[in-house]
Amino acid sequence: MNYDNILPLKGDSKQSPANSNSPLNMDVEKVFHMTGGIGNSYAQNSAFQKKASDTVKHITMETIQELYYEVTPKSLGIADLGCSSGPNSLSLIKDMVEAVEGTSHKIFHPMPEFRVYLNDLPTNDFNSVFKSLPDFYKDLKKDRNQEGPSIFIAGYPGSFYGRLFPCNCLHFIYSSYSLHWLSKVPPALYDEHGKSINKGNVYISESSPPSVSQAYYKQFQEDFSLFLKSRSEELVTGGRMVLILLGRIGQDHVDRGNSFFWEILSRSLAISVSQAEIEKEKVDSYDVHFYAASRNELEDEVRREGSFEIDKLEMFEIEREVKNGESYGTAVAMTVRAVQESMLCDHFGDGIDLDSLFNNYGKMIDEEMVEVDIKPITFVMVLKKL
Ligand code: SAH
Repeated sequence: MNYDNILPLKGDSKQSPANSNSPLNMDVEKVFHMTGGIGNSYAQNSAFQKKASDTVKHITMETIQELYYEVTPKSLGIADLGCSSGPNSLSLIKDMVEAVEGTSHKIFHPMPEFRVYLNDLPTNDFNSVFKSLPDFYKDLKKDRNQEGPSIFIAGYPGSFYGRLFPCNCLHFIYSSYSLHWLSKVPPALYDEHGKSINKGNVYISESSPPSVSQAYYKQFQEDFSLFLKSRSEELVTGGRMVLILLGRIGQDHVDRGNSFFWEILSRSLAISVSQAEIEKEKVDSYDVHFYAASRNELEDEVRREGSFEIDKLEMFEIEREVKNGESYGTAVAMTVRAVQESMLCDHFGDGIDLDSLFNNYGKMIDEEMVEVDIKPITFVMVLKKL
C-alpha cells in the first residue's frame, strides 16, 4: 500500500498554537492507564498479554523457586510492576504462591508469609483488582482445609521509573508487558517551537528521520537505567527480576514485529484526518511513549548500570488467537484501543471517534495479514541482583 495516498505530505503542516495538551505537557503519570471497567476494558482485552506471560510461565516459576530455595526468607516480598486492572496479575500471584509452596514442602521448610505489592500508575483501576481479592483468598483456601497461606496484598501507585519501595524489602520482582512503556514521549521529538520532527507518524517509521530513533533510544536508555537503579535498592542481594517486554529482533527499528502496529495507527489517524474528524496538526504532534528495544540494547543497559547479572534473555513470538467469530484485526484493534484510549482522548479531546478509528485499524490489520503473518516480538529477561 502506498502510504502517501493517506498520509498528509511532509512539511505542509500549518503552525498551530501551542496547546495545553501538547505532547510536551502530557503527563503520562496522570493520564496513561489501561481502560478500566467492562466493555472495551483492558480486563476484557488482555488475552494477548495473558498468552505471552503464560508462554514463559515456567521461567517465572523456576526463577521464584530458585530464589526461595537460595534465600528461604520467613517473609517473602514480591512486586508486580505494571499490574494493570485485569485478571492477569492475581492469577500469576496465585501461581507464584503455589510454586513457593511446592518448594517449601520439598525442602521441609515452613511456608513463608507473602508480602505482595501491586504497582501501577496512579490512574490505574486498582479498585477492580481489590474487588477481586475476596475471591482470590477464597480460592487459595479452597484446597487447603480453609487454611490458606498468609498473604498481605497492597497497592503501590506510582511510576516504576523511580523508587517505589523501601530499601531491601523485595525478593522477587515481576513485570509483564509494562517496561516497553517509556516514562514520557521523548522530548527530543519536538523542535524548539514544540513542533514534532516525526510528522504523520506516531512512532519510528520508515519515513522518520534518524533523529527520531535516536530520541527514542536515548529516552529508553535513561528510563531503563533508572528502573534498574531503583530496583537494585529495593531488592535484597540474590533477589530476582523476571521482566517480560515487547522488543525487536534486529538493530533496524522499523520491523513488522512491533513498529508495524504503530504504523497502522498512524494510517488510521490519517483516515480520520481525511474525513475531517481530527486536525492534521494534532496527528503530527501525537507520538507514543513506547520503545521496542533490541537484545543488545537491553544487555548494554544492564551491563552499564552494573547492579544485575543476566541469568536469561530469550525472545519469543505469540501465535495469533481469536475469540469466536472475531477477525484477528478486530482482536488486535480492541487490544490497542484498551491500551491507547486514555492517551488518545487526552490528546485529541472528545471529538475523536474511537469506534471508527479502531474499525479502520482492524480492517487494515486484516488486509495486511492476508499477505504476511505478523507476530509481535517479546523478550523475557531474568536478572539477579549482585
Ligand atoms: N502486567 C499486566 C498489564 C500490562 S499493561 C499484564 O500482563 O496483563 C501495562 C501496564 O503497565 C499498564 O497498566 C500501565 O499503566 C503500566 N505502566 C506503564 N508505565 C508504567 C510506569 N512507569 N509505572 C508503573 N506502571 C506503568
